[in-house]
Amino acid sequence: MDTLIQFAYVVSGALFIFGLKQLGSPATARRGNMISSLGMLLAVVSALLDQGIVEYQWIVVGVLVGAIIGGAAARMVQMTAMPEMVALFNGSGGMASLLVGWAALNTDAATFTLVTIILSILIGGVTFTGSLVAYGKLSEKIGSGAVLFSGQQVVNSLIVLGILAGSVMFCLEPANHLWLYLVIVLSLIFGVMAVIPIGGADMPVVISLLNSYSGLAACAAGFAVNNNILIVAGALVGASGIILTQIMCKAMNRSLSNVLFSGFGSGKTETTAVEGEIKPISVEDAYYVLEAASTVAIIPGYGMAVAQAQHVVKELSVLLEANGAEVNFGIHPVAGRMPGHMNVLLAEADVPYDQLLEMDEINPRMEGVDVAIVIGANDVVNPAARENEGSPIYGMPVINVDQARTVFVLKRSMASGFAGIENPLFYKDNTRMLFGDAKESIGGLVREFS
Ligand code: NDP
Repeated sequence: MDTLIQFAYVVSGALFIFGLKQLGSPATARRGNMISSLGMLLAVVSALLDQGIVEYQWIVVGVLVGAIIGGAAARMVQMTAMPEMVALFNGSGGMASLLVGWAALNTDAATFTLVTIILSILIGGVTFTGSLVAYGKLSEKIGSGAVLFSGQQVVNSLIVLGILAGSVMFCLEPANHLWLYLVIVLSLIFGVMAVIPIGGADMPVVISLLNSYSGLAACAAGFAVNNNILIVAGALVGASGIILTQIMCKAMNRSLSNVLFSGFGSGKTETTAVEGEIKPISVEDAYYVLEAASTVAIIPGYGMAVAQAQHVVKELSVLLEANGAEVNFGIHPVAGRMPGHMNVLLAEADVPYDQLLEMDEINPRMEGVDVAIVIGANDVVNPAARENEGSPIYGMPVINVDQARTVFVLKRSMASGFAGIENPLFYKDNTRMLFGDAKESIGGLVREFS
């Protein structure tokens, strides 16, 4: 039986890795998700057989309650609130690791096991409260601004010292539960302290980092209870979370320490001197320009998600193609509010994957584009990132829509985007602003074509 269970663990580990690989492309992502879920089912069933469990009734209750809550939450969540849900899932993962570590405590345990127990408790505790604060900030249930006070560094250093001292004492005197309780309480407090100084706007990056922590906590818990698949799954989550965090930071041209310690996105605004004037355009006039275009690039951003305009956007792209135009979508890696946000929305509207071009693919073609339609994107098309060294986003790679012959920008007002900065694109000679909700504006264009 044991050999069979270990074999099942190897198969689940392979399914996780294969699933993760498939998650790397929109064309295979759904299948990747299914394969990973299958791996997890196999892992859970094998783990239940592994432990010589005497009574299953509470496990069944737990599985049912968890499945109902998880299933209902995933069905009900709005696409734009997905990062908040991920935050809650990470927090639950952290709490689970804390509890598993705690339950594995056995005063006769070897020092290595004691170290893994305290690590799963410590990282799990930080992940739990850190994720709850990240959730609160992102959903604006608590103030999303950065909370800074004098002496913060000193307080944080004292907490870290307390955690270190408590952990060492726990390993030396496992029978004295006071050290354990001290570490639990201090790690829960440290989770809060680590996330409050970060502005709400940076929460998606923090959540990705906490996702990585939840994996590390699970990995430590796997060592604590001597379960191989928990070690493998935890390590995979830990590694993929940190890779994703790096990708997000790189796409914003910021370092992780800048995200964690700079208070960026906490309401600070920067004004860029802009020249030129705003030239609004009506739906009818925009239609005449599009009707004559032979190459069109559509650049979606957060506003497309807010307006839920993906289905009308797809309708417009079909009409443009029927009219003889070549249509492509330019996808910036951090457009929207979570990685892959635009891919998910466009996949939902059945836009063919081969029409989705990454930033590096679409930029060299931009000069040959007749019309670039920017739908609720702002920062990811801001030429200040290229042209203005003083801009907070200077150096961030952007989609160069300003190099197209004509640019239509669809948004409701002159309000800034996520980074809170001016966008000189709106004032360029070849830009026309089509003001209004993106879904209504695109709907208007679709009606004109039809
Ligand atoms: P932005 O947040 O820069 O801009 C979105 C624009 O959409 C706003 O200017 C807004 O203007 C417009 N908008 C909002 N609602 C509507 C609507 N109903 N109809 C039409 N327009 C609307 O979005 P981008 O996608 O360009 O940039 C993403 C930003 O998020 C980047 O700064 C990125 O660094 C950051 N970020 C992204 C993460 C990710 O993983 N994707 C993670 C963390 C940060 P108006 O109000 O005038 O309509």
